Amino acid sequence: MVEHQLRRRGIADAQILDAFRTVPREAFVDEDQRHLAYGDHPLPIAAGQTISQPYIVALMIQAAGIGPGDRVLEVGAGSGYAAAVIAQIARDVVAIERQPALAESGRERLSRLGYPNIEIVEGDGTLGWPQAAPFDAILAAASGRHVPPPLIAQLAPGGRIVMPIGAAGDAQELVRGVMQPDGTLRLHRLAEVRFVPLIGAEGWDER
Ligand code: SAM
Repeated sequence: MVEHQLRRRGIADAQILDAFRTVPREAFVDEDQRHLAYGDHPLPIAAGQTISQPYIVALMIQAAGIGPGDRVLEVGAGSGYAAAVIAQIARDVVAIERQPALAESGRERLSRLGYPNIEIVEGDGTLGWPQAAPFDAILAAASGRHVPPPLIAQLAPGGRIVMPIGAAGDAQELVRGVMQPDGTLRLHRLAEVRFVPLIGAEGWDER
């Protein structure tokens, strides 16, 4: 997976590649999906959600420029896999999930596997997690209507946000925003992607 799906597609950072080597992806998927755990695609998890394609997780971590001292917010904890990869690199990770069953199973899994620097919390991640802000990097694993203003407000100076924008089923764009010294966010487009919807006060309505 690391050589063929990540390195050959331009993921060059040794810390990111090592993090993917270290986290056992098979422990984050359902038992009947384990033989597919290292495939080059997303996989279904509980509650009708998905664990993202490894390359997309790596691309987002690389684009966010996550480093050893960073405090990171992940919106859309799902299985906890991306949080576990980020936690190999960053100082600590708060991962927020709106589906209570996923938050609970993710918490159990990460405590069983031993990730003391990850906190999985339950709530609407479009509002961020102000009690732990500011964050050096924010990653959203679900596609929004726009970059939620509460997330922009919770970025540290120089902080980075990487998230997909666009409706489910439509073309979605992965964007990277960097907090400028004047408090504005400078946005760049990174790639066309496909994610589940970001549902919440600053996202889409639940259908
Ligand atoms: N990062 C996850 C992993 O490694 O397994 C994959 C996440 S999945 C592609 C997207 C997740 O975002 C789903 O679990 C979904 O319930 C969650 N989600 C959608 N809207 C959300 C919101 N407003 N706040 C928190 N989580 C949200």
